[in-house]
Amino acid sequence: MDIVDIKDWGLGLDEHLLIAGPCSAESQQQIETIAKGLRGANVGLFRAGVWKPRTRPGSFEGIGNDALSWLNSAREILNVPVTVEVANTSHVEAALKAEVEVLWIGARTTVNPFSVQEICEALRGTDIPVMVKNPINPDLQLWLGAIERLNKVGIHKVAGIHRGFSDPYEKRYRNKPEWSMPIHLKRMIPGISVICDPSHIAGSREIIASVSQRAINFGLDGLMIETHNDPDNAWSDAKQQITPDTLKIIIENLNFRETLDKHPEAISELDKFRQKVDLVDGQIIELLADRFQMIKQIGEYKRAHNLAVYQPNRWQDVMESRIKTGTNKNMTEKFMKSFLFALHEESVKMQEAQLKEVKSAN
Ligand code: PEP
Ligand code: MN
Repeated sequence: MDIVDIKDWGLGLDEHLLIAGPCSAESQQQIETIAKGLRGANVGLFRAGVWKPRTRPGSFEGIGNDALSWLNSAREILNVPVTVEVANTSHVEAALKAEVEVLWIGARTTVNPFSVQEICEALRGTDIPVMVKNPINPDLQLWLGAIERLNKVGIHKVAGIHRGFSDPYEKRYRNKPEWSMPIHLKRMIPGISVICDPSHIAGSREIIASVSQRAINFGLDGLMIETHNDPDNAWSDAKQQITPDTLKIIIENLNFRETLDKHPEAISELDKFRQKVDLVDGQIIELLADRFQMIKQIGEYKRAHNLAVYQPNRWQDVMESRIKTGTNKNMTEKFMKSFLFALHEESVKMQEAQLKEVKSAN
């Protein structure tokens, strides 16, 4: 894929891009008040929802086309480009006509390849930058697919936005973050920037600061934070919006880590530790190979004596004892569980394959 870095979109957007503005544009005056409040906050791009994808009907669904001209005041007050969400051909046409500089595709749209393709067809022949939010469900392929579709119609100025995933069991977040996803996306699409949207991850303003810090820690390239002059009375997403002043405080308190290219001396220091880590990783792999060898011998015995591959009591014992040992050594229960599940799954698969091999040989 051919991706143009955010810094080369020709919009003056730099490293650690800050996108701010309301969930929804409500009035010309609201846009102006927010934009004025954001002066001095180092905002690179102003956001506002004009067409709002609401989960249930009957809520405020956005002002629509009329709100597009209000964005001119934000552009003038802050001297920055603006961005809106588009979900169909008529949104794209209206946004292009209003000379909106950047578009974004929302989570409820990324999930649907028909809608994404419709947007792409409307964009064919333009080179407007598009930010693609992750789909509602943690499906990397859908996220990747939407970006590929854009690329195929000639849109190369593309970025991702991590806004978390819907999870019925999750209580802490509105949309649970999955930090490995943006990392995978960056690995699969070299050069792509991924912005974090702490507002839609958090769902409540109290944890926006901590989610933002985690995004920075995981190397994400910027933040999109919903900002409102009167958050409690916002027409959408009231609980998660913050005032421009709160946004400034949050940004000032973020700890931006330096990248290695600015610290060549750190590379040789880190290399010393990394050599040790490489050695330990090698030992872990050797030990795992030994373990799987033993699993094969057990598999052979189970096959010869017609015993079931999965032995629940043994698995229970392994889980309990290993989790205890691991947590005593300061590893988290979550890590131990996922590690042991992966190990067990691979072992069961191996033994199943042994059974199949013998069957096909007979
Ligand atoms: C939004 O940014 O206001 C929005 C609707 O977000 P999402 O698509 O992430 O739900
Ligand atoms: Mn919102």
